[in-house]
Amino acid sequence: MTDFSDDSPAANSNWVTDADGDALKGLTKKIAAVSQRQSSWTRDDWPTQQLSLMAEAQVYRWFISRANGGLEWSARDIAKGYIALGSACLTSTFIVTQRVAAMKRVAACDNVDLKQRVLTGMLDGSAPATVGISHLTTSRRHAKKPVMGVTRSNGQWQVDGFAPWVTGANHAQWLLMGGVLNDGKEILFLLPTDTVGVQIEKGFDLIALSASHTGAVKCDTVLVPEANVVAAPQESVLATRAGGGAGGVQTSALALGLVRSAIDFIQQESVARPELAETADALNQQFDLLFDLTLKVADGAFESVGQLRADANSLATRSTQAAMIAAKGAGFVDGHPVGRWCREALFFLVWSCPQQVAEAGLCELVTRAE
Ligand SMILES: Cc1cc2nc3c(=O)[nH]c(=O)nc-3n(C[C@H](O)[C@H](O)[C@H](O)COP(=O)(O)OP(=O)(O)OC[C@H]3O[C@@H](n4cnc5c(N)ncnc54)[C@H](O)[C@@H]3O)c2cc1C
Repeated sequence: MTDFSDDSPAANSNWVTDADGDALKGLTKKIAAVSQRQSSWTRDDWPTQQLSLMAEAQVYRWFISRANGGLEWSARDIAKGYIALGSACLTSTFIVTQRVAAMKRVAACDNVDLKQRVLTGMLDGSAPATVGISHLTTSRRHAKKPVMGVTRSNGQWQVDGFAPWVTGANHAQWLLMGGVLNDGKEILFLLPTDTVGVQIEKGFDLIALSASHTGAVKCDTVLVPEANVVAAPQESVLATRAGGGAGGVQTSALALGLVRSAIDFIQQESVARPELAETADALNQQFDLLFDLTLKVADGAFESVGQLRADANSLATRSTQAAMIAAKGAGFVDGHPVGRWCREALFFLVWSCPQQVAEAGLCELVTRAE
């Protein structure tokens, strides 16, 4: 595997190799400039430039060990990176999270041949994978029959059914998907997106993040060779190895990225309207507390990842709505970024949201502070 250490000749000035230097600030500035020019975020749009900038900066390498060709950032630095990127462009950063989820599962797997075949293109962003695994954790869990079934067929695995949510499948080369066997065990496998029997549906028209091209992927008698198995059949396959579970610390980092955009807006408005300064200050204090908490959770020093996500969700909702109050009617006109941020805050109420976080959200909504 190529050596990508900082002093390697392969290291390039576009690379963002640490979370605290000017390179990350430069990258987020460029991405934010592209996003500010982008007037349409529908399912007919796709954040090509933002994703290219991230690939050139080698963002995908942050998440992977040096032994596997990555830059091996700590969870703390990744959280800082996600907050910065999420603030610059939530849609493209979200797409990256799904690509990273797939890549990490591949990098952590025991299938060495598979890794050698596919990891290089995932790391440089030229052949990304995305995930369709939520039906093993947070989606369709109440369905009597698993939505994606897997059976053994002539030495291969046969997949039938669908993954209800897959982000950016039509821009990916690979799909990392999970299926359920008759005995209840679960398997993870990697499929080229052009595999016979795979049908990628057009992305949903979403409340927000439609430009992430999130939709269902159907599998009709799809055959998966053993060579493409990422994790052999087992109980709760996602609970093992790297990859992160639903509602992990990095989902909160993305929510805080959105919070940052909303507070920055209120702060800018407060220059001409000093009455908004108090609101900006109060929200900033809450952001700082959650920022520190995120780093603590990332370091493993604080256990309550669910509480962090619940608090991040709450601040995302409140700060974007405060930005709407600050923007007044102008913010309510379609195309104003504040309206988009309010809708994007809703996304965190449903994406990768474990039961505990959903319950904390409901509890907050039915409780009104005196
Ligand atoms: C924009 C977006 C992008 C996403 N991208 C990805 C991705 O790339 N990869 C990925 O794997 N996942 C992805 N997800 C999935 C996500 O992480 C969650 O799994 C998903 O939001 C859960 O919602 P659901 O509607 O599937 O839940 P479900 O639990 O299936 O609920 C759907 C409906 O079923 C009914 N229902 C729910 N529970 C019960 C019950 N106990 N009894 C009876 N009826 C019930 C309700 O009417 C409910 O509205 C994405 C989600 C979103 C919103």
